[in-house]
Amino acid sequence: MTKREISIDTQLIHSGEIRPGIEGAVALPIFQSANFESVEGEGYHDIKYMRLSNSPNHTVLAAKLAVLESAEAAVVTTSGMAAITTIFHSLLSAGDHVIFQDCLYGGTYDYARREFERHGLSCDFVDAERPETWTEALRPETRMIYVESITNPLVQVADLETVVAFAREHDLISVIDNTFASPVNFRPAEIGFDLSLHSGTKFLNGHSDIVCGAVIGRAELVGRVKKMMSFLGGSLDAHACFLLHRGLKTLGVRVRQQNESALALARFLEAHPAVTRVNYPGLSSNSGHERATKLFDGFGGMMSFQLAGGEAAAKRFEEAVTIPIVAPSLGGVESLITRPAATSHAGLTREERAEVGVSDGLIRVSVGIEGTADLIADFEAALAGI
Ligand SMILES: *Cc1c(COP(=O)(O)O)cnc(C)c1O
Repeated sequence: MTKREISIDTQLIHSGEIRPGIEGAVALPIFQSANFESVEGEGYHDIKYMRLSNSPNHTVLAAKLAVLESAEAAVVTTSGMAAITTIFHSLLSAGDHVIFQDCLYGGTYDYARREFERHGLSCDFVDAERPETWTEALRPETRMIYVESITNPLVQVADLETVVAFAREHDLISVIDNTFASPVNFRPAEIGFDLSLHSGTKFLNGHSDIVCGAVIGRAELVGRVKKMMSFLGGSLDAHACFLLHRGLKTLGVRVRQQNESALALARFLEAHPAVTRVNYPGLSSNSGHERATKLFDGFGGMMSFQLAGGEAAAKRFEEAVTIPIVAPSLGGVESLITRPAATSHAGLTREERAEVGVSDGLIRVSVGIEGTADLIADFEAALAGI
């Protein structure tokens, strides 16, 4: 619950770093070494080995990520999905039950729906904006409540404070996927979440060139996740650690630019006659606007919108824009657009998509760090042509 005392920009550059630098190096070098020399008197648990995620590249990142979210501990993972599935397999046992927010990242939803049962786990999905419905989902064997800070692709902001209160009241582990908000806009530990996780592939690294993830939160829980990771055998390789570390240093300037551009673009789209709906937490039309205003320092770079012309118009729009790249994933320096029905939610049946509110004509935008006016002009020209 500790609020930070120095700005996140300073923490991004200096927190967790080894100082003085090794051999005077200002940037942390890549430790391309699977194992490390034994030190007199060390035991089995002190062994440094790349699979154990304890090389300097790993430990510096872990220390920095923990500070960024005002949390006790962190560990980097090979992907966001590795962070998610390792949390489940380290903190849940056969027979346990999880309450999930209903509009989840496609991979998480898919995993819970299709793989939980084989591991003896069960789950229910709730509308995270309606806490009065959560008690119905509660069972004696419920162990965890799992939400996202901003959902994909409808960018809803759940009643996150009540999630924490509910978890405490019923002795559940509270877990939040904080990928879309990033630590610049929201630090879940500050309102009491036990664990936060990221697809570091997105905003944390920010350059669309590696896949990685992170689990951040209470030391005891992060320790269990890290131990399970060493059993499962996936640890982020040193070069990917280096790139994530490098990307992180500019997280503050990138995310603030993305916040600013996304808000301007969302306002532009909301006023455009060809657009029937814009989902962005920074708009007062968004159901989570008040909560986002209270809890977040910015509304993020993610939005989605619906065209009056439906799926066909959405496809024409994708062809007409010139700045954004039509590609899945998000959070990079370049703007990206996708149709979630064809990408992140393609693993779901049409019925399941309809259940979570993802229509086939929905366009999701990940706003990059290009010039704001250039982006708006490009969207305006593309909309005029569809
Ligand atoms: C991309 C993403 C994931 C999965 O992350 P990977 O790094 O692709 O494994 C999980 N949650 C959210 C919100 C994401 O956007």
